[in-house]
Amino acid sequence: MLQTPKCYERRCRQFAGVAQPDGDESSEKPICRAFPNGIPAEISYGDELHLNPYKGDNGIVYEKASADHDMNAGPELKEGEEWIRAEPDEEEEDEEGEKSIEVRSAIRKAIEESRIKQYEEIAESLEGVLDDYFAGSVERIVSGLGSDWTPDPEHVEAQAAKLLDENFDADLESTKLMEAAAAPLLAAFGKAVAQQREETKNIKRTKPHRTKKTRRKPTTAEQFVGKYDLDVPELSDIVDEFHISLRMPDWMVEQAFETLDETFKRDYWREGIAPSTRRDVERTLKAAIEEGLNSRDIANRLVEQHGRRYTQARATAVARTELGSMLNSGHSAGIEELAEDTGIEIRKEWLSALGSTTRLSHAALHGTLANDDGMFDLDGVLIPYPSHPDLPAENRINCLCTVISSIL
Ligand SMILES: [Zn+2]
Repeated sequence: MLQTPKCYERRCRQFAGVAQPDGDESSEKPICRAFPNGIPAEISYGDELHLNPYKGDNGIVYEKASADHDMNAGPELKEGEEWIRAEPDEEEEDEEGEKSIEVRSAIRKAIEESRIKQYEEIAESLEGVLDDYFAGSVERIVSGLGSDWTPDPEHVEAQAAKLLDENFDADLESTKLMEAAAAPLLAAFGKAVAQQREETKNIKRTKPHRTKKTRRKPTTAEQFVGKYDLDVPELSDIVDEFHISLRMPDWMVEQAFETLDETFKRDYWREGIAPSTRRDVERTLKAAIEEGLNSRDIANRLVEQHGRRYTQARATAVARTELGSMLNSGHSAGIEELAEDTGIEIRKEWLSALGSTTRLSHAALHGTLANDDGMFDLDGVLIPYPSHPDLPAENRINCLCTVISSIL
């Protein structure tokens, strides 16, 4: 695991995260816009502040990032600047001894790529469903605004807050969001599990048959929807559209239920997603009141600013986060069960996407094995897998990390 580089601590806006220039963990190093192939140790861990040009820095030096820049989100770019992450070098097959490392890292990469592709595909298909929710949410606010009030630019804060209190029901929004999300998430989960089973089929077949443990009878996503008494007419459409079966292995379904169940109970949903929509609406509202726009124009502006692109981004975040969480929980349970059934010492290993948006603390966990209790320590929170519901939103939303099995 990497130490936190000084550039990160000093909040250099050029800082770009961690890379593995040789494609494996041993080559892991911090990178930035000046040194895309690795920051010289004298700068990343030594006393060189890099305020003046340094050999090989392409003319890019230390600059303090603005206060609200997220250091885990890649460099803070100014207008006209771009940052494209270099791909790791192709490895050469020279030494026999290095071959197994190579093969391992190739397997990892393949799993990683297929997982990320899976997320992206599923997120895309979930967008449509969640789009409707987010659009509806803005519509509910707009329709409540009415026309029997006049903008009062002198009291923007109070007026915006009053309007929102009258027209935004956080509980209703949370319920509606759950209704919109539960069925497609489970359907997408079913599809992903089917793929995952293909991946692990060969491993499972070579293991002795399992003993003990009473299995519950097969469960379906319909039962979950039933349990929550959700009115989801789209479920059968989704199933048809994706050509999937909602029948999954018991333990995965159980795990998925539990994860969704837990997630829906978290502040992240109850006090997180809906209120953050509220905050975004509030911002638009305040600006419009300040400008003295009438309620009709304010309504139009809301629809405009919270239109397609806004809802798309929010929908993608929900889809990625929740599906990732469900997949990881299922996979994590699978690895643990495999270990228990076979007696083989298998540990979960953290796999980070190591992309330009990967958080530094997640990248640092890349390749780390779970502890004896099957837990990882992410910024002080012990969790059995990435994007676990126990994590705060900032360590959860859009996380693309996953776990793989590693035989000790
Ligand atoms: Zn992550």
